[in-house]
Amino acid sequence: MAKSLSLQLDTQLQHTGTAAFDPVSGAAPVALPSMRTSTVRFQNLDALDEAQAGKAKGERSVTYGRVGMDTHAALEQVFCDLEGAERAFLASSGLGAITLALFSVLNSGDHVIVADCAYGPVRYLDKTVLGRMGLEVSYSRARVADLAAQLRPNTRVLYVESPGSLLFEMLDIPALAQFAREHKLILATDNTWGSGYIYRPLDLGADISVVAGTKYVGGHSDLMLGAVMAKDPDIVRRINDTHYAMGYSISADDAWLAIRGARTLPIRMRQTAQNALEVCQFLAGRPEVVRIFHPAWHEDPGHALWQRDCTGSNGMLSVELKLDNAAARRFVDGLKLFGIGFSWGGFESLVQLVDHAALQPHGYWTATSNAIVRLHIGLESPGDLIADITQALGRAAQG
Ligand SMILES: *Cc1c(COP(=O)(O)O)cnc(C)c1O
Repeated sequence: MAKSLSLQLDTQLQHTGTAAFDPVSGAAPVALPSMRTSTVRFQNLDALDEAQAGKAKGERSVTYGRVGMDTHAALEQVFCDLEGAERAFLASSGLGAITLALFSVLNSGDHVIVADCAYGPVRYLDKTVLGRMGLEVSYSRARVADLAAQLRPNTRVLYVESPGSLLFEMLDIPALAQFAREHKLILATDNTWGSGYIYRPLDLGADISVVAGTKYVGGHSDLMLGAVMAKDPDIVRRINDTHYAMGYSISADDAWLAIRGARTLPIRMRQTAQNALEVCQFLAGRPEVVRIFHPAWHEDPGHALWQRDCTGSNGMLSVELKLDNAAARRFVDGLKLFGIGFSWGGFESLVQLVDHAALQPHGYWTATSNAIVRLHIGLESPGDLIADITQALGRAAQG
């Protein structure tokens, strides 16, 4: 990890990943260009040998196009800055980054405990691939008190996500890290929610942090990207070797877009967080609202952990509404400023009617017949978003 000019992330993100000066002209572009290449050519065989030797030592060494050149290296540095990591490894999607993290540290016959609030497709990965590879997976509420009963002699990894998907359950990462150390487990956590900017799991004791750059880092809903970060040299080495062996690679243009997105991550994140709190304030006064899931909201059960471990929040929230399924569908269809769709972290507001089946495995919320609606609050005027929600609740009530 290169030395930074400032300890402040807001400053770091503007000065990381810039182009080096041309030795002849002494000039450089402000924004690093997208360096597209499928392979690399060397001045002579000595230069190639040196690059190969670096690669053999596990260093970031460019010998072929897959690993990428300056644009990729600059984006890796952005993720290192964000997460306080030594190395970052890029994958073509957030889910790709999750598979990279797991395949890097699991051996055949190992057991991994997965937090019940983790991103849903991890269960699909388990069902379709991990089982076939001879890996055992079990799911648990990710609290120390619940985890001890899950341990097996072959348990090797604790895989969590904080705050959890869909309901944003805050986990006690320092306590989980302590538990992991006591039982010689590797703690890997999905930090897409925090994206390194507002939550730094590696600083809190996690061994591996995984981020879907598709969300807040990219920030403009126009690219797919994942990254895996670590500090520990042994773990870095395992990820490095697995990354190479499995052929993970991203396009220079996507790396370039993500660097561009990262420059404005601080202001986008702060603004969506502020907009989301305004929406929470409004929702709290509505008779249809039973519960708001948003750790920065003072009534959220994870609020104290959020205050302790996070430096900010974002635009994600879920809300339990006293609406039956038909009324909830009218509500969602009635929203005009919220796109109906998955994903989040872009500039725009999105809504998802959460399938109760996806919440069954969570111990965090006891299923009722009420609807759970997940909102990504974007950069629109919060007043407009609140007016839109108001009129859509009116539609929901119209039977
Ligand atoms: C979206 C998401 C992912 C997957 O990212 P993709 O780039 O869509 O594959 C992983 N984890 C979390 C928490 C996510 O929200």
